[in-house]
Amino acid sequence: MSEFTNPEFTSSELTHAPDGQGAQAEITHRYSRAMMQTFATPKRVFVRGEGIHLWDAEGNRHQDMLSGLAVTSLGQAHPAVLSAVTSQLSTLGHVSNLFATPSQVALAERLVSTVLAAEPGTARVFFTNSGTEANEAAFKVTRLTGRTKLVAMEGSFHGRTAAALAITHSPAYRIPFEPLPGEVVFVPYGDLDALRGAVDDQTAAVVMEPIQGENGVVVPPPGYLQAVRELTRQHGALLWIDEVQTGMGRTGQWLASAGVEADLVTVAKGLGNGFPIGALLARGGAATLLQPGHHGTTFGGNPVAAIAGLAVMAVIERDELLENARARGDQLASEIEGLPLVDHVRGAGLLRGVQFIGDIAVRVNDALLERGFITNAPRPSVLRVAPPLIITAEQVTAFTTALGEVLEAIAGDV
Ligand SMILES: *Cc1c(COP(=O)(O)O)cnc(C)c1O
Repeated sequence: MSEFTNPEFTSSELTHAPDGQGAQAEITHRYSRAMMQTFATPKRVFVRGEGIHLWDAEGNRHQDMLSGLAVTSLGQAHPAVLSAVTSQLSTLGHVSNLFATPSQVALAERLVSTVLAAEPGTARVFFTNSGTEANEAAFKVTRLTGRTKLVAMEGSFHGRTAAALAITHSPAYRIPFEPLPGEVVFVPYGDLDALRGAVDDQTAAVVMEPIQGENGVVVPPPGYLQAVRELTRQHGALLWIDEVQTGMGRTGQWLASAGVEADLVTVAKGLGNGFPIGALLARGGAATLLQPGHHGTTFGGNPVAAIAGLAVMAVIERDELLENARARGDQLASEIEGLPLVDHVRGAGLLRGVQFIGDIAVRVNDALLERGFITNAPRPSVLRVAPPLIITAEQVTAFTTALGEVLEAIAGDV
C-alpha cells in the first residue's frame, strides 16, 4: 500500500487514528457530532482491508460476509483493480462527458456483449455514479414512451432520490418526502394475477428486482420473470429490471434475470468493487429514447470508474467467479439449513437470506460481529449473507460454524 500513499496527505487522523483501546470510541464520538444522523451509529470503525478481511481501529480482524452491501465482489485491495485504477488515474483521471475515453467505451461494449448478452448495436449504456441514479435515468426513459403509468412491486427498494423513491414501496421511506413523481401503482411481488390486473395499454413500464435484496432476499416463484416479460410485451410496456444488488455476478450469473431480455436493466453495486459506478443498460427501442439534452451527468462514466468496472469483469471471467458464486452459495445454504432456529435459506449464488424461526436476526447479527463476522439483518427474522465472490470453501465453513455456535447459544436461552 505504501507506494500509493502520499505522506503529505497521510495523517494518523485519516488512516489509523490512535491504535488500540479507545480508538473506535473516539472516532465514533466524532462521527456522531460531524456526520448527519441518517445512519444508525456504526458499531465498528474500519481502517484496512485485504481480500475478504477487514481490520477495525483496534486491530481486530473481521471476515466480511456482506461485501459492503453486495459491492466488493473481489474483496478489498484486489491487485487487478488496484493496478487498473492507479494506472488510469495517473494517465487520465477525468474529462467530463463533453469528451470520450477508451475505458468508458470499452466498458459499455463489455456490458452490452457480456452482461446483456446482446448483439453490438442493439443495446446501449448510460453511466452513473450509483444505483439510485441508474434508476433515475431509467425512470426518465419510461416518461419518454408517451405513457406515464408505472407498476412497481410491494417490498421493493430502488434507491433514495425522488424518482427511485417513488417506486420504492416502504411508506416510511416515501411518506416524509411526498409529493413524489406520480402515477405509480404497487402490486404484490410474485403475484402474476395481481400484475395482470394492473398492467394495461397505458402502462409505460413494470419495474422490479429479480430478487428483493433489501426486503430480505425475497425470491419470486419460478417462471415469474418470464411471465412478466410476456405480459409487458402484450401491452407494449417496458420491462425494467433493477439488478443493482443482484447483477454483476452476485447470484452466480451476470444478471439474475439472464435470458429474460428486459428493455431496461440497472446495475451498480458489484460493478466497480467499491469504486462508485452504476449503469443503465437498455435494449432495442428503449435504448434510443433518451436523446441529446434529455439527461446528463458530470462524473458518470469517468475513466477511472470505467476501468474499475473493466477490471472487475476481467477478474470474474479469469478466475471463474460466477462458478465460484454458485458453488460457494450452494455450500453456504446447505451448511446453514438444519442449524437450530433456521426455517430455510433462500436466494441464489452468494446473495442469501437466512429465514429464522422468530425475530432473532439482530441478535444473531450482533453476536456474529462480536466473533468477527460481518452480516446484516434486513428484517427482524432474516439475516443477509453476501460475501465477496472470491470466498473459499474453508471461509464459508468458518462462517457457518460460527453461525451454528451463535444459534445453539440462542436456542439454549429461549
Ligand atoms: C442498493 C440498491 C439501490 C440503490 O443503489 P445506491 O447505489 O445506494 O444508490 C437500488 N436498487 C437496489 C435493488 C438496491 O439494492
